[in-house]
Amino acid sequence: MNCLEFHRLKLADPHRLPPEAQAHAAQCAACAAFVISVDQAERDLERTLATPVPEGLADRVLLRVHGARPAWRA
Ligand SMILES: [Zn+2]
Repeated sequence: MNCLEFHRLKLADPHRLPPEAQAHAAQCAACAAFVISVDQAERDLERTLATPVPEGLADRVLLRVHGARPAWRA
């Protein structure tokens, strides 16, 4: 396995690496660092998606975008 193949596998399914990919990362510092980076991004994404959305936020955003303009903007 080379680094390009490893990157493809890691990005295709960050949570499940085949044994040969795990063996590659254990011997390749660049891919080991890539694993850390991708895993951190995955945790950040999961934390962001788990953040509760305040009630009425969608309506307030739509009103702000498509609704009445503030008087000072004319
Ligand atoms: Zn590598």
